[in-house]
Amino acid sequence: MTTPIAAPSPFEHEALTAERIARLDRPGPRYTSYPTAPVFAPSFSVRAYEDALAFAGQDTTPLSLYVHLPFCESMCTYCACNVVVRKDIRRAAAPYVTAILQEADLLRAHLGTRRPVAQLHLGGGTPNYLTRPQLERLLDGLKSRFTFLPDAELALEVDPRHVDEGQLAWLAALGFSRVSLGLQDVEEEVQTAIGRMQSFACTATAFEAARAAGFRSINVDLVYGLPAQTRESFARTVDRVVGLGPDRLAIFSFAYVPSHKPQQKKLPMSRAPDALTKAQLLLDAMQRLTSAGYVQVGMDHFARPGDPLAKSYAEGTLHRNFQGYVPGPALDLLALGTTAIGDIGGVYVQNQRKLGGWQAAIDEGILPVERGWTRTFEDEVRRAVIGSLMCRFRLSFRELAARFGIEHDSYFGDALPGLDDLVGEGLIDRTDDGIVVTDLGRLFVRNVAMVYDAYLPRMRESFSRTV
Ligand code: SF4
Repeated sequence: MTTPIAAPSPFEHEALTAERIARLDRPGPRYTSYPTAPVFAPSFSVRAYEDALAFAGQDTTPLSLYVHLPFCESMCTYCACNVVVRKDIRRAAAPYVTAILQEADLLRAHLGTRRPVAQLHLGGGTPNYLTRPQLERLLDGLKSRFTFLPDAELALEVDPRHVDEGQLAWLAALGFSRVSLGLQDVEEEVQTAIGRMQSFACTATAFEAARAAGFRSINVDLVYGLPAQTRESFARTVDRVVGLGPDRLAIFSFAYVPSHKPQQKKLPMSRAPDALTKAQLLLDAMQRLTSAGYVQVGMDHFARPGDPLAKSYAEGTLHRNFQGYVPGPALDLLALGTTAIGDIGGVYVQNQRKLGGWQAAIDEGILPVERGWTRTFEDEVRRAVIGSLMCRFRLSFRELAARFGIEHDSYFGDALPGLDDLVGEGLIDRTDDGIVVTDLGRLFVRNVAMVYDAYLPRMRESFSRTV
């Protein structure tokens, strides 16, 4: 069992000093994988991916499918997603769906047919730009190539600005039961600053329509640390969203990475909250959400107590993948579409990041690999450690020894000085059986995980900041 996260106390607000923030605010990964994507090698071959698929195909456990639908009509200035801007998305989507199904054929040729599908997630971009016939063709095509379990969960991301009641009804009729609505912030001043206008009425209408259509679970994404946000304004945003009654909320830290996302250079960052205020925004949100009855799950997700995400956190089975926190044990993840990252058969694989390159590889009948990584034993150990810290806020040395046959302090001798620093900073406690992340440390769990990242010294500048 994992200890429930209590509402932040005044102590935690007092502990957020400018000096402490200055010591902890540094570039660092979000650890949706370990090793993290910047480590993946361009030399990773198509053959290595084919071998991993063949290896994974000997198994019969369920897997998860992720399909990346990258199209958006325009680029929001703050966006850090992998997006392809097209004015006529529906025309672009038709050949894209065809190519996804060709990619599914290539994958199945190596994976075989023994692995049933337990989950399908459509991410983007804006998946709800697809027309009903396009989405039906995609779903039917995937179902004819892979065996979907009868209770397979279908989820998608939806932009409330481009959805209506009728579309949500037919999405539910196609079997989608989980929807994630993009919002970020309800305040007009913030929306103007980040180049994404979306009235609260628009979000509320989409929310109500999703409920009426029968979606079992509705998530809303918010982002903190954006230009023009203040503690007062973000508190209003959180309260208005709570008023809608979502099953889950994700409160993501704004990732300012203009070297990778050049459009972010247009953001008025002089109006962005400083690091101390940004940390206070998160703590304020935690306070409001826990007071409203939500359970904090991991570093930035919140769920109603009966939601599978909250139950999985309580049972200690939560895991993390490229979509964020996910209930239950980690499944192999088969990824389709440009830029998509999979995790199957002991390897991470990222598809070609340029739409043209991805399409060209598929046209030639080649798996569209851009880069990847075959995990070593040491990677697996460190991945388990970081996963436990990120998902359970603790690390058991006994469990580590039982699973990997290692003794923590001798295996991680290089991490011990960093752990001492974290104890001194009040972010972790060392116990007889390992490490427990303190309430304060939960705000900085990326910093805690970084102590165990063997690749970080040469990768640090690739990441957004930890606060
Ligand atoms: S709609 Fe979403 S994915 Fe598309 S540009 Fe805006 S933030 Fe990025």
